[in-house]
Amino acid sequence: MSDKYPNISSYNYCLWNPIRVVDPDGRDGEVVVNKNDMTISIAVRLYYNRNQSGIRNIVGTGEDPSQIDLALQKGFSSREWGYTDENNDVWKVSFDVSFIPQNSDGEVEKMLSLDPMGNKLCYDVNLGASGHWESASRTISLGTKSVIDVYLDDVGTLTHEIGHAWGLPDAKDVSEGVMGSNGAMSYNSCRRVNEKEVGYGVRRLLDVANTTEGRVVRLHVHNSAQTPQIVE
Ligand SMILES: [Zn+2]
Repeated sequence: MSDKYPNISSYNYCLWNPIRVVDPDGRDGEVVVNKNDMTISIAVRLYYNRNQSGIRNIVGTGEDPSQIDLALQKGFSSREWGYTDENNDVWKVSFDVSFIPQNSDGEVEKMLSLDPMGNKLCYDVNLGASGHWESASRTISLGTKSVIDVYLDDVGTLTHEIGHAWGLPDAKDVSEGVMGSNGAMSYNSCRRVNEKEVGYGVRRLLDVANTTEGRVVRLHVHNSAQTPQIVE
């Protein structure tokens, strides 16, 4: 372990968390499907420790665009989306992605225990230009260089990981064309959230919501390998 990760400090708690399995179900996104007004609202809440070493690479200094700026201005929550189902009914789809600063790792952990659908955002020095989504611990980790500042039209790595948090797979893991090209879930240098990938995730949600007669259905979204669950 020490050979593989020579630079680990005590701040890199995201890597060193062998006993931290707060929520084995990996409950991540929270969805309300309202069949009365044909709306689908998807919420993802991310808690982070504002004092964690390196976190400013993600949340920014106010001068340069940060991962959070990109995720809010160009990511899933930047606009309302439309989804046309097999009955030709059109749903309005909106995202509410929120970033909630805490003062310590302990406060973040406390919020995760109080908010079973909350997630954690942290910096991991070992990730470089990439990011990582860990469903079991509800954690998004990003590296120093994950803001691709030469591509300011790019939604960024954080948006990609948020896609995983509400159930989207990587574009390469589904048959070609299903989620479109150059979307947030692709690995292209220029990627923007597109209708096709939003639609891919929304269809999974509606398939589950339509298994009940309920008119307003709350769902927990897990990772792409798990079926969304109805909240009783
Ligand atoms: Zn991915």
